[in-house]
Amino acid sequence: TKVILLKNRPSGKPSSSDFEFTEEQVPEINDGEILLETTYVSVDPYLRGRMQDAKSYVPPFELNKPIHSGIVAKVIATKNDNFKEGDYVSGMLDWKEVQKSTGEELHKVSKDNAPLPAYLGTLGMTGLTAYFGLKEIGKPKEGETILVSGAAGAVGSIVGQIAKIKGCRVVGVAGSDEKIEKLKKDFGYDDGFNYNTEDDLNAAIQRTCPDGVDVYWDNVGGELSDAVFFNINQKARIINCGAIAVYNDNKVPTGVSPQVFLIKNSALMQGFIVSNYMDSFPEGVQQLSKWYGEGKLHHEDTIVEGFENIPQAFIDLFDGKNTGKMLVKI
Ligand code: NDP
Repeated sequence: TKVILLKNRPSGKPSSSDFEFTEEQVPEINDGEILLETTYVSVDPYLRGRMQDAKSYVPPFELNKPIHSGIVAKVIATKNDNFKEGDYVSGMLDWKEVQKSTGEELHKVSKDNAPLPAYLGTLGMTGLTAYFGLKEIGKPKEGETILVSGAAGAVGSIVGQIAKIKGCRVVGVAGSDEKIEKLKKDFGYDDGFNYNTEDDLNAAIQRTCPDGVDVYWDNVGGELSDAVFFNINQKARIINCGAIAVYNDNKVPTGVSPQVFLIKNSALMQGFIVSNYMDSFPEGVQQLSKWYGEGKLHHEDTIVEGFENIPQAFIDLFDGKNTGKMLVKI
């Protein structure tokens, strides 16, 4: 069965030569174990950080060991009474076509409630990130303006929709005109702009957020976020979810210092990791599933086919090739 290993720690943007394909025997399962066939693989920007040998909230991937990420897999053999053949499970698993597990830390998912990809997106880690970041830090109130960067991606598309449910005016920033159109058409955004074609980001924010920014959901960091500081309102909340614009930088980024803007507006800026809210995940999944069932949350994904395309799908995140959640179907 095929396996993908981390061969090199990427320098700058990851490339296909940083990954190695190898084969291993399909494992025998022992009592209490299940055999899993990978069905959908989530590729995520945060994996870039784990490829670096740097201290972070999770240990780095080891060289010449399999990479792992969120995966939906099918149980194809079982010696564990909690699972039967044909069940689908979701959890953190290796980039392998087939692997065994004890089933601990895996959750059963049902095709009857939602399409399987939704469990890696809207109803999975992505949706939970949007839900808890807004609930615990952003606290959007009716009538407020929220600006979302990386708005057409996995997290951003859910953030906008939840903010809309909360009655906000929602403005999105993304990397193409097609994505901006889609934000308005499918995700309920009120306005937006393409950061690649605006000469003056500050002017673009003022144009699309004439009443200023009450909540800034930051997925990208970098120059765009620097420009946002000039446009925040009193008591603004800034949610530092991600900084993909600087993930491939080899040097420490420099830019506008936010302190003075935070001080004069009594604003809050807070980073978070979705796993901080692990104890409340059941509540988050319940609320997201309810909105999804009511048709208030639209799940969008970009599905690439084939195990051999997992590394490229990951690399393509840095070129904005996805709308909604980037997944690989095996
Ligand atoms: P996305 O689906 O948003 O994919 C990444 C997107 O980022 C691309 O589609 C691209 O869209 C955009 N992008 C790529 N390069 C740049 C750049 N240089 N400048 C601006 N935008 C860029 O991924 P996710 O939704 O999974 O993740 C979004 C962010 O949230 C990431 O930063 C991720 O690390 C973070 N995250 C944080 C979590 C947490 O617990 N704190 C949990 C999950 C994600 P475009 O065409 O618009 O450029």
